[in-house]
Amino acid sequence: MKRPWYSEETISSADYILRELLIPALFRTKFESPKQFLDSTKGIRGNNMAVAAIEMALWDLMGKMIQKPLSQLLGGVKPEVQVGVSVGIQPTMGELVKAVTSYLGDGYKRIKIKIKPGYDVEAVRAIRKEYPKILLQVDANSAFSLEDTKTLKQLDAFSLLLIEQPLAHDDILDHAKLQKQLGTPICLDESIRTPQDAKQALEMDACRVINIKPGRVRGLQRSKEIHDLCVRMNVPVWCGGMLETGIGRAFNVALASLPGFTLPSDISASKHYFRKDIIKKEFELTSNGTLKVPQEPGIGIEVDKVVLDACTVSKEHYTANTIAVN
Ligand code: MG
Repeated sequence: MKRPWYSEETISSADYILRELLIPALFRTKFESPKQFLDSTKGIRGNNMAVAAIEMALWDLMGKMIQKPLSQLLGGVKPEVQVGVSVGIQPTMGELVKAVTSYLGDGYKRIKIKIKPGYDVEAVRAIRKEYPKILLQVDANSAFSLEDTKTLKQLDAFSLLLIEQPLAHDDILDHAKLQKQLGTPICLDESIRTPQDAKQALEMDACRVINIKPGRVRGLQRSKEIHDLCVRMNVPVWCGGMLETGIGRAFNVALASLPGFTLPSDISASKHYFRKDIIKKEFELTSNGTLKVPQEPGIGIEVDKVVLDACTVSKEHYTANTIAVN
């Protein structure tokens, strides 16, 4: 994001890490696999999204070199993936219900709403009144504290699939204290940046579901490790979304085709965010409320260069020579 509102990373910080460290490394070292590249970044603390940008591109490249779809490289098994939509905070409860109605009309089978203090139980109640049976979950993006336990407990009455990241973005312990008092599973998002975080959170019963975003956890290798850990511990996972273009969306769809992704993922159709996506064949919802997993090599989509050019704000060209000067 432009500002550090989700994690500490921003477009500028990622640009810096890519330019100063990661792109030069690609010219210096001959990497045999995405994993080898990932291992070479050990000395770089944090900055997971910047590392993921290269790591994920290498997975795509590898798929194209050996003519295999990314889904297959990762161990995906599903030809299409269940998806849901995320609904932001609305000005009124009436508008919230209207937004939900419209997404259900589009064919989405699972709705997630953002909540915050003062816009929590009432919001869920308003939706449940209209739609008692739909798959519904909430995401607090760290807006609550343990002092709000009483409010959060009231959400147990609405058969939610999960409550996502109710407490601090860097907390695990308080989530364990909260989970003890809730019937609804807690799902961690921001708190899980590494497989080690996932292991600790699950061992402490701080969550019973994990939202995997490849960018947040440093790419696809780590996403897979967290997925495999969750499968072993019988914990469902799903793939979160970060306003991706069709390129990011294609990576997420491939990841969500792995067997442990048993809950619908936040991977909406292209038109949810864009009038025109930067890929030629946009992602569209099927009549089952799913997205099809591309079967072509790598991420399996074709970039629409005309649209991309029209929205490009800057370009950089790297060569061995320019890198050597740096
Ligand atoms: Mg979230």
